[in-house]
Amino acid sequence: MNMNAVLKEANIYGELFDRQKIKSHELALTTAAQRADKIRALLKAIMDARPAILEAGYKELRLNPTDLDAQLLMVKGEAEFIARHLESWMADQPIQGTLMTLGKKSYVRYEPKGMVLHVSTWNAPIAEAFVLAFGAMAAGCTFVLKPSELAPHSAQVIADIVEKVLKDDEFVVLNGGAEVSAELLKLPFNHIFYVGGHGVGRIIMRAAAEHFATVTLEMGGKNPVIVDQTADIAEAGRKIAWGRVANAGQVCLAPDYALVHDSVVKEFISELGKSMTSMYNPDGKGYNKSADVPRIVNIRHFERIKALFDDAVAKGAKLEHGGEFDAADLFISPTILSGVTEDMRIMTEEIFGPIICIVPFSQREQAITTIRRRPKPLGSYIFAKDRAAIDFFLARTTSGSTVVNHNLVQSGTNAHFPFGGVNASGIGRIGGRYTFLECSNTRGVVEDQYPAGDPNIMFPPYSEKYKGMI
Ligand code: NAD
Repeated sequence: MNMNAVLKEANIYGELFDRQKIKSHELALTTAAQRADKIRALLKAIMDARPAILEAGYKELRLNPTDLDAQLLMVKGEAEFIARHLESWMADQPIQGTLMTLGKKSYVRYEPKGMVLHVSTWNAPIAEAFVLAFGAMAAGCTFVLKPSELAPHSAQVIADIVEKVLKDDEFVVLNGGAEVSAELLKLPFNHIFYVGGHGVGRIIMRAAAEHFATVTLEMGGKNPVIVDQTADIAEAGRKIAWGRVANAGQVCLAPDYALVHDSVVKEFISELGKSMTSMYNPDGKGYNKSADVPRIVNIRHFERIKALFDDAVAKGAKLEHGGEFDAADLFISPTILSGVTEDMRIMTEEIFGPIICIVPFSQREQAITTIRRRPKPLGSYIFAKDRAAIDFFLARTTSGSTVVNHNLVQSGTNAHFPFGGVNASGIGRIGGRYTFLECSNTRGVVEDQYPAGDPNIMFPPYSEKYKGMI
């Protein structure tokens, strides 16, 4: 019998859940200072585990230390920001009263929702696990984390870190695959975080409905980048090359297709290709030799991306740059495709790999129509110098976040930023106070003050008192 079967048999999940429930009542009474101390202690353990984190990231995605340090910086920034601000976030917020509450004290109290489950993913496993964990800890909730089985080394490091600092009735990491999520989803958690694709997002939301749990879904989709004719094309090419190839394109916010004004398409493709080369193949030895080109997470995702590429090429897409695939090495080179059409799968499914499609437009409205045909994206990007063009695109599109004249820089680097999607790309917001709020019940409280200040007309019998008043 494997470990998960043993755990299931022993009903470990239910037993853990019961103990976390008891603990959740205790955590609700903790102060900001106590919660901040735990967050800092966890941060220290994460930082101490840097060598193991680097090793795991290399084994899984062949990431270089800089990429992993970026995740650590994100985690550090988040923990420190929360620890600094938590006291003010937890404080009761006085609010204005009404005629009914005249003479009474009205305020909002942020109380923990209670028990939080997080079903996480693999592309930035350290940041995805701990940014949300800190928010839940800040709110005073217990936490069950189910990392992705697709990043097993990181998952183990995460479990080891947490075990060093916190008891399992407060924060526990349960490793395994869909079967572990399925067991956990049967339990009546108060809030569920999920980071991953749409298909499982639906499973999570349905399971949450069973217990009326609230959810924060961080998903993805096809993020458009618009390159207007007024953009600095060389700059756009440089930034988009980085945005698309970072983490081998396995970034939820990465630009997926570029809508480019037809007067600058040729120049843009050339600049994009030049930048891909100068960043990721500077000595001409090949993209696969660069320490900055990570690998695809596994063969299933490799074959999924290759199938999107093959389908597009078979239907007439033109390969402008790259196009190298090596299954044995899980390597895909930075690739540019033009001549893509709506009937190609690559234009309907999220690529999540280092391939970008170029879609020309002649009128700005055309670019808007192309974006609106798809589910609302997680991120969108506008490259333009003309203010009117920026405003035109901003006003007529929607997305979880937008960056003008850059891409990806909003990702997790700013604890003030409301990170999240819209409908199919996500529900809810995370980062800094937003995660705290997702894990908090915003409770309205009215306290009557003595002596009671209610005017007598508030109470019956009314008929005589209100005669002629209304
Ligand atoms: P994945 O395969 O790791 O799945 C995510 C989690 O769901 C894992 O923990 C997995 O065990 C669990 N799971 C899988 N099948 C399940 C089932 N049947 N029932 C219950 N749980 C199940 O991740 P993925 O889907 O390959 O992740 C890639 C997607 O994640 C992309 O679409 C990307 O855009 C999105 N993403 C979004 C964000 C964000 O912040 N919005 C961040 C990273 C990734």
